[in-house]
Amino acid sequence: MTQYGRNLVESIGNLPTTSPLRRPLLQMVAHDIRVSHVAADFGVTPRTVYTAMQEEENLVQSMVSRPGVKRCRIEEDQIELATQFLDEAAPIPSGRTYRLVRVTYENLYAMYRAFCEDRRADPLGKTYFIDKILHATNVRHSGDDTICKLCDKKKKWQVPFPLSKKDQEQYDELVDHVETWHQQGQYYLQKKNLLITERRQNVVMIIQDFTQILVQSTFYQDLIIVFYKFDANAVGNLHRRYNHFVAPTSDTSNDGNFVARCWKHLLDHGMLTPFDEIHILSDGGGKHFKTTAMMNFFGILQMASGKKIEYNFFERYHGHSVCDAAAAHAKNALNVYQRDTGVPVNTPQQIINIINNVQNHVAIVAPTVKTDVLPPFKTMNGITSRHKFTFDHKTIFGRKLSKDQQENLTFPMANSQYFGTFLAGL
Ligand SMILES: [Zn+2]
Repeated sequence: MTQYGRNLVESIGNLPTTSPLRRPLLQMVAHDIRVSHVAADFGVTPRTVYTAMQEEENLVQSMVSRPGVKRCRIEEDQIELATQFLDEAAPIPSGRTYRLVRVTYENLYAMYRAFCEDRRADPLGKTYFIDKILHATNVRHSGDDTICKLCDKKKKWQVPFPLSKKDQEQYDELVDHVETWHQQGQYYLQKKNLLITERRQNVVMIIQDFTQILVQSTFYQDLIIVFYKFDANAVGNLHRRYNHFVAPTSDTSNDGNFVARCWKHLLDHGMLTPFDEIHILSDGGGKHFKTTAMMNFFGILQMASGKKIEYNFFERYHGHSVCDAAAAHAKNALNVYQRDTGVPVNTPQQIINIINNVQNHVAIVAPTVKTDVLPPFKTMNGITSRHKFTFDHKTIFGRKLSKDQQENLTFPMANSQYFGTFLAGL
């Protein structure tokens, strides 16, 4: 009989300190034994024993004492869907490590339940949703004014009306900013919903953004290109794939050449093949996305691929968080790896190996060389105030808002030969 006891004590001692079974088992075997003796036998502090004894619910008992209650297993799909919801409703601002929550938890949870209902999915319980999913990142409660200086300025506008011509222009610009932000955000959501409701298998929605992966006091640029496509078998009927292109060296610039090389990879590896239409969205990064060169590139890519391409931009300071969320997942995997193994991560190859273990994430070293640069392109005047671009074989069309039917900017494609040769791999 005492051998059973010894075996049990030894087994508990062998459990990792983080095991959820440790405390309840300790509580069970320590019953009616002096705390100081238990502490000595198990090589823990008396305080640990006290804490274990005070545990409200004995886990072991809870598993056997309620045979009628079936413990609902939290499905991975439910967690995935909750994360999808939070990436929209409580986004991680660009470059930050916290979620921005603008409503009360009550409201957020109500919104989440409605979101699940729309998708005919079972919602997670409120406690689990808040403690395990929402609090998996830090949370800050805030309005938009803290992340957008323009919205903030409009909110705190103090110059009395009527305004001077100069002030009026500035005020109009702020009003326009808010309107554009709302319109572009809505356009994105409508597009995404259309994929699902119209089961549009021939359309891919692509969101791209750069993030910086910080390792061992240096950093690597990472271009994240997210694919959204309809899939009847996927969670929420939406299949997502996060493609990471990690810079080959820490001094590779996140420029247009980097972006073009990665898109050439997508084309060359058949990743665009299943689709007839490609709807791209990104923020208006003036260094690598919203440039005349890149609009020329996507015009030529349309020709080379035979796919209809449209490029939509979010309003400035109101980019979308899906890439930030993807970046946060990848960075978290890197941190966990380094913490658990003690192995420092400092090469692009190590980074991609780790990211490739994260579900839905695929990483490669970007097929680019830091000395490659794009040739100069004649600037398309008015490009910054346009938010949607489409193409034909010789023209770039710009629209103020993505919902606008009629283009209000046309610009001839230039230097087509450069990208033609580039895409042909010549
Ligand atoms: Zn704003």
